[in-house]
Amino acid sequence: MVRIQREFLWGGVKGGNKIKWVKWSVVCKAKRMGGLGVRDIKIVNLSLLAKWRWRLLLPGNPLWKQVLVAKYGNHILNRVIWSDIRIPSLASKWWKDVCSLDKVVESKNWLGESIVRKVGNGFSTYFWSSNWIGEAPLLEVFPRLYSLSIHKDSMVRDFYVQEGGGWRWSFSWRRNLFQWEEDLVTRLREMVEPVPLSLEEDYWVWSPDPEGKFSVKSAYNFLGDELRVGEDLEEEVALVFDNIWGSPAPSKVIAFSWQLLYDRIPSRRNLEARGLLCLDMPWECVGCVGSVESTTHLFLHCPSAMKVWQEVFRWLGVVIVIPPSMLVLFELVRGSARNKKTRLGFLMIWHASIWCIWKARNNALFANGTFSPNDIVEEIDELEMVHC
Ligand SMILES: [Zn+2]
Repeated sequence: MVRIQREFLWGGVKGGNKIKWVKWSVVCKAKRMGGLGVRDIKIVNLSLLAKWRWRLLLPGNPLWKQVLVAKYGNHILNRVIWSDIRIPSLASKWWKDVCSLDKVVESKNWLGESIVRKVGNGFSTYFWSSNWIGEAPLLEVFPRLYSLSIHKDSMVRDFYVQEGGGWRWSFSWRRNLFQWEEDLVTRLREMVEPVPLSLEEDYWVWSPDPEGKFSVKSAYNFLGDELRVGEDLEEEVALVFDNIWGSPAPSKVIAFSWQLLYDRIPSRRNLEARGLLCLDMPWECVGCVGSVESTTHLFLHCPSAMKVWQEVFRWLGVVIVIPPSMLVLFELVRGSARNKKTRLGFLMIWHASIWCIWKARNNALFANGTFSPNDIVEEIDELEMVHC
């Protein structure tokens, strides 16, 4: 399924040369995150499974719930976190997937965080083990007090007692407490005291949704964000993208460099890959004979481009071997500068070089200009003069 989606998006032809403009996981990112908002079927599936977990918690006892309870136990109706419950080896594939949902996000129990208990009258919420106040169940926040409590399985309401004309929280412990344990009780009281119990029934809230109601869409968005953590740009690459903006070059020039490093410029190789190259347009590089105009070729490996860079690096006083990619070339330029001031100058020259190569290419292609290294170098030199 994912393969079909991918091929559709990139317009791939069977056995053809498919060029992915952007990584699939980036494409699946929401638009606000720089992606295209394409559905990730794997995450859709997880969201649909989460819906079953949510429906189990809702009130009502339809037949399908009765069947599941008979098979797997009563806990499935009132517990959010199942990670400590053994998955029966004879269970169906579907049920095993439902049970394993807790573990799909490595760093935390995302279900426990997403499904929160809202306390009304407190009659059906476990005081210690439900996640009803703060970030986690109280037994995790106050393990010491939990171990000392004589009412480990009691409901919230059991700790809320009428006394005189009002209500107060009351706890009983297995023994007299030490002072530091009394301090813990004080903290516990500070947490629970602002929560007024009411006449309403306790209920579940789905926290990724502002209305508190479960929807596959909100589960999808929440899971998508969680699962794509760490799928951002690699550190070194991110550093490059971070550094290109720190230059006095005009922003349209920098934006072009940015596009280039992402390989999203309309080189003919890229256009062809998108099916945008007209048939009457030559496919060859303007600077040499017989080479396909890919971004790396045009800006780096074309003999004309190499001459340009050799000349540029001669100015900078640096000896280099032409590297395999533009990202590495950028790092070479940036890394060659000895201090902040020269670095700014070097970055400026980088942007100017990229800009002038692209301009010369367009002139050669559309305005009968030439793609001559000497002319390009001269142009870079002039651009430098203007800005320095
Ligand atoms: Zn060439």
